Amino acid sequence: MRRVQVAIFGAGPAGLLLAHLLRQAGVETVVLEAKSREYLETSPHRIRAGVLEWGTKEMAKQAGVGERMLREGLEHGGIYLAFDGGLLHLDFRALAGRSIWVYGQQYLVRDIIQRHLEAGGEILFEHEVVGLENLGEAPVLVFRTPQGKEERLAAEFAVGADGSHSLARRYIPGARIHQKTYPFAWLGILAETRPAAEELIYASSERGFALYSMRSPSLSRNYLQVSPEERLEAWPEERIWEELNRRLEGVAEVRPGPILEKSLTPMRSLVVEPMQYGRFFLVGDAAHVVPPTGAKGMNLAFCDVAVLHRALLAYYRNGDTGPLTRYSQEALRHVWQAELFSYWMTTLLHTLPDPFEEELRRAKLRHLGESLPLQRFLAENYVGLHTTGRYVEG
Ligand SMILES: Cc1cc2nc3c(=O)[nH]c(=O)nc-3n(C[C@H](O)[C@H](O)[C@H](O)COP(=O)(O)OP(=O)(O)OC[C@H]3O[C@@H](n4cnc5c(N)ncnc54)[C@H](O)[C@@H]3O)c2cc1C
Repeated sequence: MRRVQVAIFGAGPAGLLLAHLLRQAGVETVVLEAKSREYLETSPHRIRAGVLEWGTKEMAKQAGVGERMLREGLEHGGIYLAFDGGLLHLDFRALAGRSIWVYGQQYLVRDIIQRHLEAGGEILFEHEVVGLENLGEAPVLVFRTPQGKEERLAAEFAVGADGSHSLARRYIPGARIHQKTYPFAWLGILAETRPAAEELIYASSERGFALYSMRSPSLSRNYLQVSPEERLEAWPEERIWEELNRRLEGVAEVRPGPILEKSLTPMRSLVVEPMQYGRFFLVGDAAHVVPPTGAKGMNLAFCDVAVLHRALLAYYRNGDTGPLTRYSQEALRHVWQAELFSYWMTTLLHTLPDPFEEELRRAKLRHLGESLPLQRFLAENYVGLHTTGRYVEG
């Protein structure tokens, strides 16, 4: 059986970045990915995240995968909140001393794959992991090849980076799964049209929440709060544009354009505790899921990678197992901070079914409009001062 130092499964942003950072430090890795390279780089089902915290952008730069991101991405100094018929601009540079970066997750995945393969890294596409063995002492990954053959790979350490529907998390014995679902979902579109504004608008209207974001100056990414039971067929293009405009009435105008992709995303929060067992570790959505309102998912995945990468290097460079033993404990601090912020943003901006809670929510929004400390709380969490930034600077 072949044996490697670190076997990672899942070539999303988490698994790929970890593999690339380890490779740069001379640690041998193999990444197994269930889908094809083409699917990861071009499928409309993989468009996903687009907001990078300041620290995420810095990590990508330091890892040598940020060249295209810096050239083609958009730097944003803040966001807008639309509520009670007005528009509040939150200036992140003034409130938190940092900006954010808008660049599609799918582009970043493409960039890391390219750099990793150029650097001699190994990614086995269309190799699905179907089982894990002996994780306590000497992990073995059982996987299916594109020809349907079952094979095994032995590793000194194994990392589960297999996303929100994770197989990996089932292999943490005695793990606690903390979960919460929300009474709404997001209907998202990607459309060829100029964004509603130069920075993201988070709109809380009586008709429900809407987010107006972008991928480039001519590509808009917009979302509508809908019921979790909603069906895409019920939303022809005209209805989507009309609703996007109604939720932004009196504030800005959304110009219709060709819709390239439509999707429904349910909202949930999930944390797996602990995030490790023996010589096996979870990173990214495999270990935690956040509702997308705070734009934290991919950023949080990068935080895990920063912590695990440091811990693996302490082992491979100095034989120090301490940081590996403490991985989950350290990672869970930033995980719960991001869970808190994502929950706070979600319950602040979406209309709630319970009339009492809805009135409380409106009171919270008005308070935010008047309170500089609350605006600073939002800004600091959004740019990620308490998460990725700390690891990059530290
Ligand atoms: C609509 C939407 C909008 C979002 N917006 C934002 C945002 O603005 N900002 C943000 O930070 N986050 C956002 N997110 C969240 C972000 O996309 C995720 O947090 C991020 O993809 C997590 O990365 P990951 O590498 O952990 O998992 P993934 O990107 O899901 O990658 C997991 C990989 O594992 C592979 N895999 C799965 N099972 C196996 C197996 N058994 N064997 C081998 N491979 C396997 C999958 O094919 C996949 O390629 C958004 C998500 C959605 C859905």
